[in-house]
Amino acid sequence: MNIHEYQAKRLLHSYGAPIAGGVAIYSAEQAEEWAKKMPGPLYVVKSQIHAGGRGKGKFKELGDDAAGGVRLARSVEEVVQNVKEMLGNTLVTKQTGPEGKQVNRLYIEDGADIDRELYLSILIDRTVGRPAFVVSTEGGMDIEAVAEETPEKIFTLPIDPIKGMTDADSRKLNRALKLTKDAAKDGMELFPILYKAFTEKDMSLLEVNPLIVMKDGRLRVLDAKVSFDGNALFRHDDIMALRDLSEEDEKEIEASKHDLAYVALDGNIGCMVNGAGLAMATMDIIKQYGEEPANFLDVGGGATTEKVTAAFKIITADPKVKGILVNIFGGIMKCDVIAEGVVKAVKDVGLKVPLVVRLEGTNVEKGKQIINDSDVDVIAADDLDDAAQKIVKAIKG
Ligand code: ADP
Ligand code: MG
Repeated sequence: MNIHEYQAKRLLHSYGAPIAGGVAIYSAEQAEEWAKKMPGPLYVVKSQIHAGGRGKGKFKELGDDAAGGVRLARSVEEVVQNVKEMLGNTLVTKQTGPEGKQVNRLYIEDGADIDRELYLSILIDRTVGRPAFVVSTEGGMDIEAVAEETPEKIFTLPIDPIKGMTDADSRKLNRALKLTKDAAKDGMELFPILYKAFTEKDMSLLEVNPLIVMKDGRLRVLDAKVSFDGNALFRHDDIMALRDLSEEDEKEIEASKHDLAYVALDGNIGCMVNGAGLAMATMDIIKQYGEEPANFLDVGGGATTEKVTAAFKIITADPKVKGILVNIFGGIMKCDVIAEGVVKAVKDVGLKVPLVVRLEGTNVEKGKQIINDSDVDVIAADDLDDAAQKIVKAIKG
């Protein structure tokens, strides 16, 4: 789960990280009211969407000459003018995809006097099985280019999760970021704070880009992007409360209500599969026969008829879906339960696209019987290969 920049900053601030003063607003009136209370003379108006690259992003409605999704303003009037231009419009960045994201909230922040922009993130480094800091002196808006063109400018420091973060670790980060004097002192405090927030809140990513050295020599967190491990959210009610459903895929929200492992994708073959491994294999084989899956969906081991029905409805509600492939290997999951769910869902919502079903394993005969006895228009398949070929052929008409 992701949260907005201003929420991430508040959270990091509660651990003691240095951030600028600021306020999230939803209207031009609110912007004016709050900006008047800010010290000035430099203000920054920042689009709050769950995607990075906002500074270099462009608003669809405003054309390429207009300023981007993060704007500097030098008076309250300029703040308000920018807010009016930005609110409600669609920001397209490298991370949003071409459709962009509608900006419904803005964050108005005190402007900082920037001397240097650095990059810092904490993530789980799977190669060493530990949390790791990734830092670079080349922070700001183009870290992807730095990683590609000058990878030697990126420094990685894995942290021993048992010992936790040590002063020696912080000193290494200071050295890598070329921090001295006050900035180095700030670093000794800030790095452990960020590590603590990362581990205590079960984050999967904490990215500060840029972390800045200000003209007065002090450090400040200027941008913050945080993702949380979805499997740990049950123990963080405070984080759950920050969820912004308008940023999430509607189908994924519906799936999460039914406890289904579902991820929306760009293709046009809807998949209903049990077991993550089989789901991956099914997606691969669809690609091998020249089509793209519309989703990943694992209905799980102990799915009920209700759950299968819900899953089927989510798949059919996607207008991109031109065909559906149900691929079930009944182990703990029984084929008759799947068959009942499919038949019930088709009766409830109808079937407007071809449906290929491959059932194997526990109660397979019973399952096939249920489908044959219904008047659902199913193309039966014998194995995975056969199923993939049949659905690809079916959608090509
Ligand atoms: P994004 O990464 O989505 O483009 P950032 O928050 O990193 O958004 O902002 C982009 C750039 O805007 C920063 O690299 C920095 O140069 C400038 N910026 C952002 N916030 C401030 C601020 N409070 N004061 C001064 N400049 C800022
Ligand atoms: Mg940034």
